[in-house]
Amino acid sequence: MSTERADRDRRRQRPDLTRRRLFGGAAVLAGATAAVAAGTTLLPDAAAVGPDREQGDRLRLGEPGSSGVTLRWLGNNGWEVSFDDRVILIDPWLTRFKTGTYAPEGADPTTPIVSDPALIDPHVSRADQILVTHGHYDHLPDVPYLARATGATVLGTETHLNLIRALDADHATLDEQLSTVSGGEYIQFDGYTIQVLHSVHSMVGERARVPFPGTRPAAVPPRPATIADLVEGGTLAYQITTPGGLRIANFGASNFFAPALAGLRPHVALIQPGGATVHDYVPRLLAALDHPEYVLPTHWDDFDQPLSEPAVDWGGIEALRSAVSTASPDSRFVKVDHLQTFVP
Ligand SMILES: [Zn+2]
Repeated sequence: MSTERADRDRRRQRPDLTRRRLFGGAAVLAGATAAVAAGTTLLPDAAAVGPDREQGDRLRLGEPGSSGVTLRWLGNNGWEVSFDDRVILIDPWLTRFKTGTYAPEGADPTTPIVSDPALIDPHVSRADQILVTHGHYDHLPDVPYLARATGATVLGTETHLNLIRALDADHATLDEQLSTVSGGEYIQFDGYTIQVLHSVHSMVGERARVPFPGTRPAAVPPRPATIADLVEGGTLAYQITTPGGLRIANFGASNFFAPALAGLRPHVALIQPGGATVHDYVPRLLAALDHPEYVLPTHWDDFDQPLSEPAVDWGGIEALRSAVSTASPDSRFVKVDHLQTFVP
């Protein structure tokens, strides 16, 4: 295939964002001013901004703040993605009960599961979809409450949805909001899409084991009492494509299944530190994603610490920043703090 033909094919895979949306002068300026006034929108770290891209076979995004899409970090792998009048939540976990996960002894498997509306309601009140990456205690426990509070559609595997049912005292009335997915779905919503991607979970320790493994596909299990009852249940990743064409990919674990990422080419990738047991974790991931314009770290805070305070790094973020800079020097590494927003 000629270079020209390859370039054309790549352009076709990556439709341009509308110029109006991303390059409009007055609108961009107004948006940027509003964001600064609100005091929450982050610009990329100056030191982490790569050299300007050449216009070529890649779409060049406008200045940060011009996409009309807001990403707000809810701690751990919790994100709120909003555009137009739509709100999508990913792994929203705001209760953050103490588990000791990042203490030397690790998470106490007998920790009871708590979901506290008083810690959730101040931060999240609306959602059209809730995307679940896996069943673990730092991802799933607030989803039943938020599904009820928002009326959102919840996407997850059979196991994730059975765990949600098990956590909900009256799950029969929640059923119609639950949508079983398995990875491979490319779902058309009103003007935007969600791709559900087969993925795999982080593997930890010298033996490279998935913590709290297992599935509960056959039936709704007894009500989960401790964090050990919330099994992984398969791991999914997601790509959201907004009406303006901005593509955002999220990974709820520090691992991935490369064949599922072919052709995704997200503009924004939310990826995790860690991955010590994953061969060439960051270089392979960023290559599979074709070197996104923006890399936002996710799941990098010690969630024994409160969401209301600045995030406390559990020890992985600088290694991630450095690995991203080496593997993908043109990607902008944007660290968003608790409850802060970033507008690409
Ligand atoms: Zn997990």
